[in-house]
Amino acid sequence: MSATLIDGKAIAQRIREELVREVEKLKAEGIVPTLAVLWVGEDPASGVYYRSKQRLAAQLGIEFRGEVLPADTSQEALLERIHRLNEDPEVEGIFVEFPLPEGISPEAVRAAIAPEKDVDGITPVNLGKLLIGEEGLIPATPYGVMELLEASGVELQGADAVMVGRSEVVGKPLALLLLQAHATVTICHSRTRDLGAHTRRADVLCVAAGRPKLITADMVKEGAVVIDIGLNATEEGVVGDVDFEAVKEKAGMITPVPGGVGPMTATIVLKNVVEATRRLRGLTA
Ligand code: NAP
Repeated sequence: MSATLIDGKAIAQRIREELVREVEKLKAEGIVPTLAVLWVGEDPASGVYYRSKQRLAAQLGIEFRGEVLPADTSQEALLERIHRLNEDPEVEGIFVEFPLPEGISPEAVRAAIAPEKDVDGITPVNLGKLLIGEEGLIPATPYGVMELLEASGVELQGADAVMVGRSEVVGKPLALLLLQAHATVTICHSRTRDLGAHTRRADVLCVAAGRPKLITADMVKEGAVVIDIGLNATEEGVVGDVDFEAVKEKAGMITPVPGGVGPMTATIVLKNVVEATRRLRGLTA
């Protein structure tokens, strides 16, 4: 059997079309949603993400205010810049590219962003809201995975979901979202004994470990839904954390890399900009 591909490009495109309509409605009320992106130190990988948000914002009619700051920018200067954006009534979304140069504390930066403008959902306030099930801004990649699962009609209630990876940006928030959707969630990490014993039980297997082809076919249950979040630059090009060629013969549904989760992330950041704009202006959806 060959798995059904979950086409992230097509699903992201449908969300973008909806966003275009929502941005037009906001503009009709004289509101131009605006995203400010700070890129410190010009890390080349971050540049790809910076430019993809810039291009997408232009397509959707969202104003993009990008600022490229030199690698020797001090933490104090960066925090000052963030505070000014927090106070700027014309900015609804703030996004800081990671990784930051050495000497700048990621925790201090996360904590400095106003939660209501935190369109990557990385502030302690938004992560705390996720934990207690309150409405906040949701981290973009996990939110994108949930949109992929919903668009593919995957039943989560009561399903065994296994999350491989426990980072603050992907693994932990995605595990919480799966739990909110009433899945029974297991979180695995680098110290997990016998990873395969856990992954083989999964009806829904999400992998964000940053280890090329960590998940092999013998680790996957027949018919499982497999979501590969990994993006690893290798000699073969960019590959995921799942051995796609072998696993697609066993899974029921699978995301390819590239073309699965990747296309969702920037789209969801901009969806969060629109959501933040509505909430800041007291508008309902
Ligand atoms: P990270 O912070 O490095 O976290 C990796 C997690 O995987 C850690 O929790 C680690 O466990 C766990 N892990 C590592 N090796 C493992 C193994 N052999 N068995 C089981 N667990 C293992 O990475 P991240 O930021 O979450 O990103 C993960 C991957 O997703 C990367 O490839 C990244 O490029 C990709 N990513 C993609 C997108 C997208 O838009 N598609 C967005 C974000 C990230 P410990 O906690 O025990 O160390």
